[in-house]
Amino acid sequence: MSRSLAVIGAGISGLALAWAALRESPDLRVHLFEGRSRPGGAIESRREDGLVLEGGPDSMITDKPAGLQLCRDLGLDGLLQPTNEDDRRAMVVRDGRLVPIPEGFRLLAPTRLVPFLLTPVLSPLGKLRIGLDLVLPRRREPADETLAGFVGRRLGREALERMAQPLVGGIYGGDPERLSLQATMPRFLEMERRHGSVILGLLAGMRAHRKAGNRDAAQAGPRYGLFVSLQGGIQTLVERLVATLPPGVLRTDRVVERVEPVPGGWQVGGAGFLERFDAVALALPAWAAAGLTRFDPALSGALAGIRYSSSAAVNLLFRREQIPAPIDSFGFVVPRIENRVLLACTYASVKYAGRAPQGQVVLRAFSGGAGREADVDRPAEELLEDVLADLHDLLGIQGDPLKVWSARHHRVMPQYELGHLELVAGIQERALRHPGLFLAGNGFRGVGIPDCVAQAREAGVRAAGFLHRPA
Ligand SMILES: Cc1cc2nc3c(=O)[nH]c(=O)nc-3n(C[C@H](O)[C@H](O)[C@H](O)COP(=O)(O)OP(=O)(O)OC[C@H]3O[C@@H](n4cnc5c(N)ncnc54)[C@H](O)[C@@H]3O)c2cc1C
Repeated sequence: MSRSLAVIGAGISGLALAWAALRESPDLRVHLFEGRSRPGGAIESRREDGLVLEGGPDSMITDKPAGLQLCRDLGLDGLLQPTNEDDRRAMVVRDGRLVPIPEGFRLLAPTRLVPFLLTPVLSPLGKLRIGLDLVLPRRREPADETLAGFVGRRLGREALERMAQPLVGGIYGGDPERLSLQATMPRFLEMERRHGSVILGLLAGMRAHRKAGNRDAAQAGPRYGLFVSLQGGIQTLVERLVATLPPGVLRTDRVVERVEPVPGGWQVGGAGFLERFDAVALALPAWAAAGLTRFDPALSGALAGIRYSSSAAVNLLFRREQIPAPIDSFGFVVPRIENRVLLACTYASVKYAGRAPQGQVVLRAFSGGAGREADVDRPAEELLEDVLADLHDLLGIQGDPLKVWSARHHRVMPQYELGHLELVAGIQERALRHPGLFLAGNGFRGVGIPDCVAQAREAGVRAAGFLHRPA
């Protein structure tokens, strides 16, 4: 009889895991349990009235190859969509006004002198303080430090509050005062170690890319050329994965409530079902995996130690003439110290072509994030009112949107806090004590789609190998 694998959670991690296991061993019996009525997890695209709206992720970075590789393996190359070549820049809010992020600014530090000296985003003192990065001694202690600790120490408080916090907060929905540098931005730590300076490290990295003929990566500034989407939105990837799975593999509306080791295998159960499998893979947020691993309190406790933040993404459709401000960038980020509900706003139909009819603009407004989760649970009309008030102040938007679609993401983004890498190493070590148990998901070694895919493929191949080992 063919051997069996239960995969729990049909976000991108669970889908890629099930696909990879079946690709490795087509004769496996795989069941992919998803609690909701649709697969995709955080990924959800809507296509209606000539619009493509994204409730979750809208892009994949290509310098981590696993996302692109999966698209190629699934025959999706022809549907990959680059960002618009025009308007590849972003803004940041300073004292209630939108100001361009200076050309050459790379998340934490500048790589080009003139735009940096001229930018009104930072005060003259703040700029001087960033310059000290060139001469400050490097830190010797090997212990992990927070992102805020690192940026404050090397580049100063203003660089943290005005640039690093909104830019990094945008990626993790996180609080730099708690995020681990080693787990989130290890390359900046490496720059300090090797070059004694973040700025010198960035410049050296750009020179190396230039030498290797790597044009997009060698660019100074936000590297929008490195991001891609898919025609019809990121959900195209989910749909293709589902279509590739044999019939009957995906089972939606199946919340798994129990996972237990039994002699020679695993038992998986929920309302109205209890089934036995030879192996089980949890492709879930770490807190959900914690709830299903109570058979090992140490493992469950460690998984529960990874905190998650919540956020909301509101898609808003406007007629172009309702927006007096120029819409000639990919959007803006809002530092916390500006005290707004809005965390960031993407000009979605500028970033990717073909996402709104001529004369209309789709904006994606984000709120919530670490420490501001309460915003996500506010009544929809109240949150919308505040978001619209911020958009009115910042872009001068007049009147009501033609269409609104809010996607709320409860505890979807993990926060890689101080000590995260040790926590994950402990989880992996503990999971190995349970033959036939595999873990994947965004809680461990990377939150982006390519990170999730890489970890899931690896777990899928390991699961298939486990199931084919001699008895
Ligand atoms: C607003 C937003 C924007 C983002 N933007 C980007 C971006 O542009 N680029 C990028 O690369 N990444 C982005 N990310 C991150 C990325 O989308 C996620 O990290 C990734 O999609 C997570 O996938 P996952 O499969 O690991 O988890 P999830 O998508 O959370 O999937 C987990 C699945 O498990 C199911 N589940 C949970 N418990 C159970 C249970 N007991 N039984 C059965 N099923 C269960 C859930 O219903 C869900 O479908 C973004 C995330 C968010 C929230």
